[in-house]
Parts: sequence; C-alpha cells; structure tokens
Amino acid sequence: MDLLTVMRRFPTQEACIAYLEHVRWGDDPRCPYCGSRAVSPKQERNRVGRWNCHGCHSSFNVLAGTIFSATRIPLPKWFLAIALLVNAKKSLSSHQLARDLGMTQQTAWYLAQRVRKAMANEQDKLFLRGLLEADETYVGGEPRKPNKRNNPNRHKRGRGTSKRPVMGVVERGGRLFMQAVPDTSGASVRSLIDGRVEPAGSLLITDEWQAYRVIRQWMDHEVIKHKELYCDGDIHTNNIEGAWSLLKRSFHGQHHHYSAKWTPHYLAEAGWKYNQRHRQPRDSFYGFLAGCFSAAANEGASHETRLG
Ligand SMILES: [Zn+2]
Repeated sequence: MDLLTVMRRFPTQEACIAYLEHVRWGDDPRCPYCGSRAVSPKQERNRVGRWNCHGCHSSFNVLAGTIFSATRIPLPKWFLAIALLVNAKKSLSSHQLARDLGMTQQTAWYLAQRVRKAMANEQDKLFLRGLLEADETYVGGEPRKPNKRNNPNRHKRGRGTSKRPVMGVVERGGRLFMQAVPDTSGASVRSLIDGRVEPAGSLLITDEWQAYRVIRQWMDHEVIKHKELYCDGDIHTNNIEGAWSLLKRSFHGQHHHYSAKWTPHYLAEAGWKYNQRHRQPRDSFYGFLAGCFSAAANEGASHETRLG
C-alpha cells in the first residue's frame, strides 16, 4: 500500500483498529487467550477496541500478543512506518524513517526493529523443499572483492576479515532463508537446514566447499564446480548468488554499520522482502499485518521434521 493511501485510509486510531480487527479475525472475532468466540465489544468511551471474553472473563484488544501491544506510539504512525519499511526495496535507515515521519531517531529505530522482528518471526516459520541452493557470504566490514568466483582467496572463508558469515538456502524460483552463523563449518550448514528444509524428495545444490558434504547424511546433494564451470544445466547456484547481491546492496546502501547483535534482524528483513518480490505493495502491507497475527497465534510452534 502506498503512503498516500495509508494516510487517507487510516488517519485515526479507530480506523487502524478496525482494519487490524478485519485482518486478524475477519467476521469471526475471538479471544486471543482462550480462543472463545463468546466475545462482545466493551462500551468504553476512552478506550477504543476493547473486548470482553465471556469464556475466560478477560478483556483484550486486537493488538494482544503482537508487535503493537504495549506501545504508546499511535497506530497511524505505526501504519506509515510499516508502509515505508515494507516498500523500501533496499531497507531504510532509522535516520531516514525519523525524518519521514517527524519522530526522534530513537523512536524510529524502535519501530523499525519491531517491524524487523515480526519479519523474523515470519522467516522463522519457513519450511523449504524441492530444488534448493545453499551458499555462504559475508556482510559488514570492508566492501568485498568484486567477484568471489574469480577471487583466489575465496576458500580462505573469511579468515582475517571483520565481516560476519551468513548462510542461506533458497528454493529455485521460490523462497529464501538466511541465517547469521559463527563460521562456515559443517555444524553451521546443519543449523541452517535442520528443521528448515524437507530432506525427503529435495535436492540441495552447493559449490564445492567441503562443509556442505555433511548434507549427504540426510538428503540428496549436488556440487557445482565453480573453478571449472559456472552452470551445468540445472546444477547451479545462480538464485542464491542473486539473493546475496540484493542483500549487499541493501546493506551498503542504508546500513553502513550495524552491530552483530542486529544482523539477524537485517537478514530477516532482506529475506522477507525477497519472498514478497512477486506481490503488489498493497498485498505486502496486508501480508505483513497478517503475518504479525499468525506469529501471535503460533507462538512456540515449531516444525516437526528434524534431522536424525
Ligand atoms: Zn477468553
């Protein structure tokens, strides 16, 4: 949804609440604590959107359990911040967000990190299958060498660099998941795909880096030998390498420095946006809000499939 539409449609707290209730419940409001449908709106003059539950006798609103709960920032500002962040192809610095919304940089930073946390919750639920590519890269620190395939130091794998290693796995033509890792060892490869990838019936393609061989215990694995050729029919890693170049453009364009602590948030934002790339902006805005609620409903849920 573009900024003007958000401003026109959601000028007040009431308008935002009504829309969030529609996204979360449709025509079927229910208690977020006990799931009961025996709920009714509270008649209170000063508090918009409060409901009573006749099942567990609690009082709640649509924000319960989401990134919006326990914040004093008015919802119209939240909505504008979400529209700006969701639409920013290369991410957005908190300084820019503060200027755009007329708020302090601290408030903008807080808003942006909560939005990224919601994106991270969505990314955490991904379960990938089919024809997959995995690879590793480095973010932060000095700008990297222009082409890693022609870089003779490539297999030094970050030794002597301040950059942080990141591993990613992508479905061919599909969804992307990225993860900050301590190193590019077999243990990191395992932590990337464990619980994230359906091993049965999937094929994972990587370059010849030896750490990826651990995959063979669990699933089919093919190697592309970059020293010899770039692409061998379907056996290539072009999709994940395209994702890396998007990731780097967003980091170098907006976040010149960010601490290791927040790297997972920025990775989640870049991954979330990659996975929205075929959607209209209107649908991404709706999708973001819907994702906030599905995360609230599924807190603690995890994938059943773990590696043996
Ligand atoms: Zn209840």
